[in-house]
Order: sequence, then structure tokens, then C-alpha cells
Amino acid sequence: MPDGGRLLVVATPIGNLGDITLRALDALREARVIAAEDTRVTRKLLTRYEISTPLERFDEHVARRRAPELVARMLEGDAIALVSDAGTPGISDPGEQLVDAALEAGVSVEVLPGPSAIVTALVASGLPTHAFYFGGFLPRKAGERTRYLESLVALDATLVFYESPKRAAATLAALAEALPGRRAALARELTKLHEEVVRAPIAELAARIGAREELKGEVVLLVGPRTADFIPEAPADDVIRARLATLEASGIRRSEAVKQVAVEFGVARKRVYELAHGE
Ligand code: SAM
Repeated sequence: MPDGGRLLVVATPIGNLGDITLRALDALREARVIAAEDTRVTRKLLTRYEISTPLERFDEHVARRRAPELVARMLEGDAIALVSDAGTPGISDPGEQLVDAALEAGVSVEVLPGPSAIVTALVASGLPTHAFYFGGFLPRKAGERTRYLESLVALDATLVFYESPKRAAATLAALAEALPGRRAALARELTKLHEEVVRAPIAELAARIGAREELKGEVVLLVGPRTADFIPEAPADDVIRARLATLEASGIRRSEAVKQVAVEFGVARKRVYELAHGE
């Protein structure tokens, strides 16, 4: 392979454009070309740092098709930088196939470490960090999601999931049902102006987020490990009422909502029934 041909996997900011390393800027400047998930997004970063390296599209739709061609160019001596819209390429973003193809072809691969929402959210949550499990985006189908979550129940690790803001409340409700009695957190808009970390026992977190009108921005959901000494906090009456109201507003019958809330919060159905009927 001629000198210089290599793949540079470059992590970029997850919000605050200041979170770029000096080494990342050098790599983006010196590469022959930058393969980017969305060239418009990356152009903003390049403009901010006055970098004029040409950009080429490398998103999930073209990754499989374009990987061999990019590998061939690296074998001819091109240094190609790979970036995604935000964070580390290959982490719930295109990249894995290109790295695999490059290594298989004997191309050298350099990963330039930098931001990723997983580690930022984990540390910001204050939940245990001795071990963590990253589950990416959970399956959208309820049955598949339940089976998957059941397979994680015994893990002694904090669970980290990516989610879209639109589905965060429903996913938290599913997490509360599958993993009751745990500490949990929602990390939103990390490194940005409206950064927020909400921490609460899982059922309460589900109720609080479910009661919000709209959740904006990017979110990470985290669930602490099952611990022998964790005693779930008894949820306050207004938290139970808010969850009931959210479920009923989404079209669920009151009797069903009572059943579901009792399971989610691990409290007696009689108490939920009484609160639902204003007693
Ligand atoms: N490659 C990225 C990384 O290394 O973190 C992840 C890309 S994935 C398509 C996008 C998801 O990451 C979002 O839906 C959200 O769950 C999470 N995410 C990215 N940036 C975030 C931020 N600033 N705050 C909270 N979550 C974020």
C-alpha cells in the first residue's frame, strides 16, 4: 500500500462545537476526502474551523455499496476521514462496515477518540459506572422489546439506551414495567444550551416525563443495575394521578390504566383505583 493510505475515524461534537480535539481538526484538514453521514451537517463544523477538505456522502443507505470503493482508494494511497453527524462514527451511526472492510483489506485504521453520548450520559446520570450495557435504540415492537428487556434483567450493569424524544415517554413506561424498582435517568441535550438530567426511581421518571407536554431535543435513557438493597420509593399520590391522566389521555380505558399503573409503580391496585376515582 502506498504511503499515507489509511482510514481516520473521527469523533465530532454531540452538540457544543467546541468539543473537537486538536488531532481531529488536523485529520479533517489533512485527509484527501471526508466521508460524512450528512455533508450539510459536517459542512457547518468545517466552516467553523475553516477547513476546506472535500466532502462525500456516506450514510446508511450507501455504506454497503460505497465501502469497497473507498477501501480501493485508501489502498491507492488516499487518507480518508470518516465522520457521522455527531459523536463517534459506528456507534448507532454508519462506520462499522467501512472499518471492517478496511481492516480486512489490510488498510490501517486510526480511531481518533472524542465525544459520544453514551459515556457523557452515563457519567452525567450519577448511576453506577463500574459496568454498563449499551443497547442502542430499543426495538419498537412491544413484544420484541419486552423479550429483549427480559434478557437484561439479571445484568449487574447500568443500562444505556438511545431514543427519539417522541418515543421517550412510552419507552420509559416500558422500561418501568420490565425493570421495576430501579434508579433511572433521562439525559437530554447534552453539551447544549438546554442540557438537562432528570433522575428518579424509574416509575416516577416515567410518570414525570409522560406528564410533560412535549419533549424536545436528543435524549438518552439510563436504568441503574438491580441492587439487593434498593427499596423502591413509594410514589406520591400526585405522581400516580399524573400517570393515570397521561394513560387515559392516550386513549387507554380507566380500568386498564389502573392495572398498568399498579404494575409500573409496584403498588396495590386498590390504591390506584381509589386515586383514579378521586377517593
Ligand atoms: N454516534 C453518536 C454517538 O457517538 O453518541 C450517536 C448517534 S445516534 C444516531 C443519535 C442518538 O444519540 C440520539 O437519538 C440520542 O439518543 C443520542 N444523542 C446524541 N447526541 C446527544 C445529545 N447531545 N444529548 C443527548 N443524547 C444525544
